[in-house]
This record gives sequence, C-alpha cells and structure tokens, in this order.
Amino acid sequence: MKYDTCEYCDGSVRSRRVTVDLRRGERLYVFLNVPLGVCSKCGERYYPGRVLEQLDEIAEHGLVGAKTVRVPTFDYKEATA
Ligand SMILES: [Zn+2]
Repeated sequence: MKYDTCEYCDGSVRSRRVTVDLRRGERLYVFLNVPLGVCSKCGERYYPGRVLEQLDEIAEHGLVGAKTVRVPTFDYKEATA
C-alpha cells in the first residue's frame, strides 16, 4: 500500500502495523497488527478504506477466537468531585 505525504505536516507516510481501538456503541474492540499508513513526523494515521471495512466486519461477525481483556473505566467527574 502506497500513501501520499501527510496532509497535516507534509511528512512521509509509511505502511506500518499498529494497534487500533475501535468503539461501536458500548463495546470497545482492540485490533492488533492492523496495516495502516502512519506519518513518520506527526503520527497521523491513514486508514485504507478496505481495512476500515474489514474491522467493522470483524467487530460485527468475526469475533471467533478473540481474546477478551478487562478494561478499567474511569469517570473523571466522579473521581475528581
Ligand atoms: Zn504528519
């Protein structure tokens, strides 16, 4: 996958495998090793349309074999009242 230069800082965008957090309603999905374009200067991420579609598809139908981890949630307002 080839990417243009970053539209924010003009840095070069390289194909890398990264962790992606995807929220759908109340659920949070964490995908590992997702191939994205990442700006080498500012870190902006560029999602190929096909990859986004695949993540949506997997979140909806393909969670067989997924590991579930516990995630602490934190209400900033309550905790700082
Ligand atoms: Zn950039």
